[in-house]
Amino acid sequence: MRAVCWHGKHDVRVDTVPDPQIVSRGDVIVKVALTSICGSDLHLYDGMIPAMKKGDILGHEFVGEIVEAGPGVTRFRAGDRVIVPFPISCGACWYCKHELWSLCDNTNPNSLMMENIYGDTGAGIFGYSHLYGGYSGGQAEYVRVPFADVGLEKIPDGIPYEQVVLLTDVFPTAYQAATYCNINPGDTVAVWGCGPIGLLAMKSALHLGAERVIGIDRFPERLQMAHTHCRADVLNYEEVDVAKELQNMTGGRGPDSCIDAVGMEAAGTGIEGAYDSIKQTLRLESDRSSALRQLVKACRKGGTLSISGVYGGFVDKMPMGAIFAKGLTMRGGQAHVHKYLPHLVKLVQDRQIDPSFIITHRMLLEDAPRGYRMFRDKEDSCIKIVMKAQASAAALPEAEAPASGT
Ligand SMILES: [Zn+2]
Ligand SMILES: [Zn+2]
Repeated sequence: MRAVCWHGKHDVRVDTVPDPQIVSRGDVIVKVALTSICGSDLHLYDGMIPAMKKGDILGHEFVGEIVEAGPGVTRFRAGDRVIVPFPISCGACWYCKHELWSLCDNTNPNSLMMENIYGDTGAGIFGYSHLYGGYSGGQAEYVRVPFADVGLEKIPDGIPYEQVVLLTDVFPTAYQAATYCNINPGDTVAVWGCGPIGLLAMKSALHLGAERVIGIDRFPERLQMAHTHCRADVLNYEEVDVAKELQNMTGGRGPDSCIDAVGMEAAGTGIEGAYDSIKQTLRLESDRSSALRQLVKACRKGGTLSISGVYGGFVDKMPMGAIFAKGLTMRGGQAHVHKYLPHLVKLVQDRQIDPSFIITHRMLLEDAPRGYRMFRDKEDSCIKIVMKAQASAAALPEAEAPASGT
């Protein structure tokens, strides 16, 4: 089969690799229809996440059709169209039983590596380094999905893959970020980063009752999307003092909650941005955190910081004094996708939220190297790329298959 493989920093290639096989009773093989490139794939692309090996198959956002099911699978069979959550969860451990799916104790065979770094392990993740289990990813024609009965969600008839591919990660991650804000009616939620997660976090915050959302970014087209699709007020952090402006906009108090949808590769401004860049380049600091510092500064006293952007290591100049003095609550982590999927599928089915508005580019799996470059450089106002995994016309969605006999 064809698959997108990691070969080093800024080097991804589409290689021919062996087809995946059923390994455990609970596995299924999914024929991938649609897969997307995620902001966190860029951390791999940029060489920020350790424990990648040449030839690793990338991709943790994919949907498709089951073509083979292991003998232990009871909820699914060949032919079912499914959404595959990015964390792999066993369904039986203490964490899974408490709906902390992305913290599953049993699905990361390399847990020791993570325990050494973080003190404990998280769930395995498709296509996301050997630190997260070394599972082959879904930017491929086929993928092995373990614990199928636990994680997968059937796609209701009539819903195209484009509307649900973002339910594998982006939408649940954004939705969790919004739920972590404990939104009350009348609340203002400020969101750093108007990329895929930020845009859907604003949508989610409004859905959960926020009165007002404020989007912060530096790319005009992203700010425009936040304004158009999420009726957000917007701030360009290169043009204004964000914390001061947010205070002005909220009667001097600051937003009730602040969502970080940027993470460890924040592009800071001024001396602080330079400080982080230099320290990160010299490996004196693993994560650039200028966005996070702004959140702390801007949030109202007693408010909540919700972290959905990925952090991998240590941050420097963390204003712990301000977090303490202002009585802030901080929550974050990988999304417990399984927990939110049924509700989010229903929202899509009832046409309350269609997350596919963030998709700006569509290509074939073979175009992945160009896609990664384009996404990293935010070329052509690129926000979200989806790739069709099957080259043959028969595998394309009906409406888009070329007419035969011509
Ligand atoms: Zn993702
Ligand atoms: Zn588990």
